[in-house]
Amino acid sequence: MEASRVVGSADYPQSMPTVTLIPGDGIGPEVSGATRKVVDALACGIDWDVHQAGIPAIETHANPLPPHVLDSIRENKVALKGPVTTPVGSGFRSINVALRQELDLFASVRPCRLYPGVPSHFEAVDIVVVRENTEDLYEGTEFEQGSDEMEKLRGYLKYEHNFSIAADAGVSVKPISISATRSIVEYAFEYAKRHRRRKVTLGHKANIMRFSDGLWLETGEAMAAEYRDVGFEALQVDELAMWLAWTPHDMDVLVLPNLYGDIISDLCAGLVGGLGLAPGMNLGKEYAVFEPTHGSAPDIAGKGLANPIAMILSSVFMLRHLGLDEEGNRVEKAVATVLAEGKVRPPDMRPRGEPATTDRVADAIIECL
Ligand code: NAD
Repeated sequence: MEASRVVGSADYPQSMPTVTLIPGDGIGPEVSGATRKVVDALACGIDWDVHQAGIPAIETHANPLPPHVLDSIRENKVALKGPVTTPVGSGFRSINVALRQELDLFASVRPCRLYPGVPSHFEAVDIVVVRENTEDLYEGTEFEQGSDEMEKLRGYLKYEHNFSIAADAGVSVKPISISATRSIVEYAFEYAKRHRRRKVTLGHKANIMRFSDGLWLETGEAMAAEYRDVGFEALQVDELAMWLAWTPHDMDVLVLPNLYGDIISDLCAGLVGGLGLAPGMNLGKEYAVFEPTHGSAPDIAGKGLANPIAMILSSVFMLRHLGLDEEGNRVEKAVATVLAEGKVRPPDMRPRGEPATTDRVADAIIECL
């Protein structure tokens, strides 16, 4: 696959793009509503094809990801998505994982940029986390503690390989393939080239997981040899975490397997002002779903306390993906202005004065467009 073709070059209707809008649940409807208001204020002709997923879809369709949601994304090729809750113990899988697997959105890209005016321990952070999105411990092969399948697995491993697993253990399987590693590492290098970034850092734990992370490291190193014009280093993920907390300005593009990518992208969000400011996107060869890094934040849902900037910045990447670079740049500049002025700040940014509601933050951004 030619990774450079992934972003911004799919066959979109050039005149009136239609985008699937999934408001989500928890704070999803609030941050999606705020984002829609900002994009609509650009008057750039985007039509929204609104579909519910998550808790509202369970209520109406007894399915958190009804087939018509996927059909809409397949037709429009682009979606803007609010966060959705993964109901624990309900028997439903994470719809986020299902969406990424169904649409083969193999690359999760999470730019973490520190904007002037945002309170942080650091002065300059501009990191892009590129996370493999389809396999690793999220692939979904699991053996439940006490189940017949788990007993069979225990028996097989003992009998065939003399491996003992505790009788009260559950098991999650971690597949890492050469093909998926090649796709994501290629994407990271192509991204670095396209955006004139200095280096790609690959995180791994190959010393412990030789046949999964070992394969990831070996494949990544072999690919790096094909991209000699971009710097490359491989670091154990624990050491990478230490460098990120110490000298984040030395880091540039990170490429990580699914689980480490999930954890490290929240760490990087913490470097640039928190989850309320961390945008993201899930990209594949055919489809793209733009969504913030954060979840549905049930602790603050429905109170107007959510910071909409992570989702508004996600829409910046969506606009650029649709070829609307000028509009995307206008929104990012307006966000940067509001952050630099510091007069309108939602509660998670610990304002000195009265915290601004979700809607007020969106209105302040619209005023700066
Ligand atoms: P979370 O990201 O929802 O919340 C973590 C903390 O950050 C909370 O204190 C929350 O109040 C705060 N926070 C998050 N977004 C914020 C915002 N925009 N403004 C202000 N504060 C914000 O993580 P969680 O609590 O672990 O997950 C809640 C649910 O969301 C779970 O069901 C999880 O599975 C789901 N989730 C969904 C997605 C997604 O839809 N892509 C991503 C992550 C988690």
